[in-house]
Amino acid sequence: MRRYSIQTKIVLPFLLLFAVVTVALPLITVEFFAWKYGEQFTRETQGWLDVIVETGYIRDNEKVKQAYSVEVMIFGADYTLNASTLTVLADEEQQWENLAEKMRLQQVQQSLLALAGSTETQGDASVTHDVTLGGKPYKVFYLLIPPGRFYCLLRPMEEIAAAKRTLAWSMFGIGILVMTAVALISHLIGRNLTNPIKTLVEFTQRVAAGELDKTCAVKTQDEIGELAAAFNAMTRELQQSRDKLIQAERLATAGRMSASFAHEIRNPLSSMRMLAQMLMRKTDVSSERHQQSLRSILEEIERIDGIVKGLMDFARPATLNRVQQPLVPALQAVLSLMEANLAHHQIELVQQFAANLPNIPFDTDKLKQAFMNVVLNAIEAMPQGGTLTISAVETADGIRVEVADTGVGIPEEDLARLFEPFFTRKTKGTGLGLANVKRVLEEHVGSVSVESTVGEGTAVSMWLPSA
Ligand code: ADP
Ligand code: MG
Repeated sequence: MRRYSIQTKIVLPFLLLFAVVTVALPLITVEFFAWKYGEQFTRETQGWLDVIVETGYIRDNEKVKQAYSVEVMIFGADYTLNASTLTVLADEEQQWENLAEKMRLQQVQQSLLALAGSTETQGDASVTHDVTLGGKPYKVFYLLIPPGRFYCLLRPMEEIAAAKRTLAWSMFGIGILVMTAVALISHLIGRNLTNPIKTLVEFTQRVAAGELDKTCAVKTQDEIGELAAAFNAMTRELQQSRDKLIQAERLATAGRMSASFAHEIRNPLSSMRMLAQMLMRKTDVSSERHQQSLRSILEEIERIDGIVKGLMDFARPATLNRVQQPLVPALQAVLSLMEANLAHHQIELVQQFAANLPNIPFDTDKLKQAFMNVVLNAIEAMPQGGTLTISAVETADGIRVEVADTGVGIPEEDLARLFEPFFTRKTKGTGLGLANVKRVLEEHVGSVSVESTVGEGTAVSMWLPSA
C-alpha cells in the first residue's frame, strides 16, 4: 500500500516550508524593527530630557506633558511621590512602597550613581525601564535631580505596541495568503503531473483484467505521454498475439474434429452416390418425377462431399511439397477449370499477369486449392454477373496475386472474422474456404489480406515470398 500520493509528496514539503516562513518572518521582522526603532526612540527622549533640564521646564510638569505627550513623575529621596501628571493608577499603585518598587527606584538609584561615578562625560548613556502603570505600558527615563530626587519621564508605549501588533498580524495575513496561493499552485502542478499517471494506472489495471481493446487516453507531450504511447503499443501487440493464439487454437481444434468426421462420412457417402447412380440407370425408375428426385439426391451428396473435402484439406498435416516453379501456369490451370462456371454466371475474366515473373517455391496442389477457394468466393459474390480480375505482380521479395470481383462486398464487421474456420454468411457455405487459404499461405510464409466495399466488390490479395 502506498501511504502518500505523489501529489502529496510534491505539495507537502512546500507547504511546510511556507508555514515555517509565514510564522517566523513576521516575528523576526517585527523584532528587528522594534530594536531599530528602540535605539532611535531612546536617543530622541534623551534629547528631550536635555532640553527639559536646560530650559527649566523641569519645574513645569504640565508644560512638559503637553509639549512631548509624556507623563512626568517626581519621587523624593525617600521614594515617596512628590508630583505626578499621571492621575490614573491602579489601587495597589496608590501605596508609595508598591509604586517605588514598580518604578524600581532603588535599582535606578544605584545605576545612576554608578553611571555618574564611572564616566565624566555621560554621553548617550541613560537609565530606562519598561513599566506598566494603570494598566498601560510606559518606557520610563530617569534623571537624578538634587537633592537626591528622581525625575521620571514616562513615554507611553501603547501606540508602539499596537503598531507592532498590527505589523505582525498584517505580515502574518500576507503569509497566509501567499501560503494559500502556494498550496493552490502546487496542487495544480501536482494534479497536472499525477492525473495522467492516474489514468495510466487505471488503464494498466483494465489491461490486467483483460480489456486489451482499450487505448490509454494520456495525450501529454512528456515522459508520461511517451510511457502511455509505449503502453498502448504493448497492449496492441498483446492483443494481436492473444488473437493469434485463439485463432491457432481454433484451427487446431477444427482440424482434429474435421479429420475424424471426414473419414467417417466419406465411405457411407460414396456408397450412397453409387446406389443413387445405379437407381437412375434402372429402366423401371423412368418417371420424370423420380429421376428429378434422384438428381437432387446426387446434387446434395456432391455438396456434402464438397464439405468433407474442405474439412479434409483443413485437417491435412502441414507437410509442404515445395517446388521452385512459375506461378502463372498454376493459376491458369485453376481458371480453366472455372471457365464453364464463369460463363454460366456471365462473369467476364480479366487476366493481368506481369511479364517475366520469377519462379518461386510453392506446393502446387495446396496453392491451387487456396486459389480455387478465393476464385469460388468471387464467383459466388457475383450471382448477377460482373468482372473478375486476376493479377500478378512482382514485389521486392515475392509475388503478389490479387483476385478482385465486382460483387456484393463484405460488411465492415465481417472483415475481421473472414479467416475464422466455419465463419460463413452463405446458407450452403462451410466457412472453411478462407481459413484454408490463410493456412496454406502461412505455411508458405506468405500472407493474405482482404479489402472490400459493400456493393462495389472485394479484392483478396495473396503474397508469396520468393525465398
Ligand atoms: P464460405 O465460402 O463457405 O462461406 P469462406 O471462408 O470461403 O466460406 O468465406 C467466408 C465468408 O466470407 C463468406 O461466407 C462470405 O460472406 C465472405 N466472403 C468471402 N469472399 C468474398 C467475396 N469475394 N465477396 C463477398 N464476400 C466474401
Ligand atoms: Mg468459400
